[in-house]
Amino acid sequence: MKYTAPARLLELEESATLKASEKANEMIAKGINIYKLDVGEPDFSTPRKVIDSAYNAMLKGYTHYASSAGVLQLRQAIAEKYSVNPSNVIITPGSKQGIFYALYALLNPGDEVLLLNPAWSSYKQIVRLTGGVPVEVNTDEDFEPNLDIIMNKLNKKTRAIIINSPNNPTGAVYGDKIVKQVSQLAKENGLFVISDEIYDQLVYEGDYVSFRKYMGYEDGLILINGFSKAYAMTGWRLGYAIASPEIIKQMVKIQGHTATSPATFAQLAGITALKECEEDVKTMVKEFSERRKIIIEMLDKKGLKYVRPKGAFYFFIDLGKYIKGADPAEYLLEKARVSVTSGLGFGESYPTYIRISYATSRETIISGLNNIFSAIGI
Ligand code: PLP
Repeated sequence: MKYTAPARLLELEESATLKASEKANEMIAKGINIYKLDVGEPDFSTPRKVIDSAYNAMLKGYTHYASSAGVLQLRQAIAEKYSVNPSNVIITPGSKQGIFYALYALLNPGDEVLLLNPAWSSYKQIVRLTGGVPVEVNTDEDFEPNLDIIMNKLNKKTRAIIINSPNNPTGAVYGDKIVKQVSQLAKENGLFVISDEIYDQLVYEGDYVSFRKYMGYEDGLILINGFSKAYAMTGWRLGYAIASPEIIKQMVKIQGHTATSPATFAQLAGITALKECEEDVKTMVKEFSERRKIIIEMLDKKGLKYVRPKGAFYFFIDLGKYIKGADPAEYLLEKARVSVTSGLGFGESYPTYIRISYATSRETIISGLNNIFSAIGI
């Protein structure tokens, strides 16, 4: 039978980051040497303690269904960390799924969700999947939120704003003042704030300010976090959301009828990650920080202009001055044999930008950057 996708899926786009990476992988499979600066996935192994913990959990029989809200011990560990009750916490198969549940729990068809440009590509698609309308909101030149521009986008249909600090793709980390101002704006205008804090431990300059400093869960804060980035656990599919018990209850219902819960033994291992891996995280953050320094030095030496990232593991760079009339990511894959992510994956306003990820070895970073410099003639 001929298959036609339902209308609601027709405007859904593929993941820009995964697409770029797959193209590079195809070239690698053909024997072409490609420097991969594309995916946002730590190159470290998951800490051994976490792996042992999952193995032991399996031996102990944690191989059956878990509660739809997640394993209580992990919910308790998270509740303790955030000074909330377990009823405020749901464990999800990755933070991406947590964002999906949160939006599904919030949106009536046609409700608008503000996304700060440039935005991680999945936000727009998840808003669409959950029946909402994504509304792109430009940020300032330093990629910080601009309150006037946000205010201008508000109307009766605006239901929520998604915030991501430290930011993918820009590495921006919002300071105390802006977090306070955006929190106030949200509270005054009855907006839910979905704060995606997945990179909260990867901050190299200045202090990290969580939205929970200025917003309560009863004020409409939905905090999203997970184990993928800080603990190098991308394949474990483990994340969590913290919100008011009423919202969590709806999210648990959705999870109960879809994923049921993340893998039970992975959740047990998550407790070990939270409680026993501080040193492992420190070691990884130190290495990310060194790589970031290397890139800053290399870019500065060439006089390339960019907004200095303070967190996460990305640089978002405008190459419009050097590459004309072509998508810079496609150009660099062809001419420099370097795979980066196209700025277009983060918003239509960024066709001349690339995102570089430094969640990869120093050798790859240095060789990749040198190839990029040669390809753009600097
Ligand atoms: N949020 C942001 C901003 C991300 O960059 C990513 C992954 O790239 C995720 C969420 C997804 O994380 P997870 O592996 O927990 O689903």
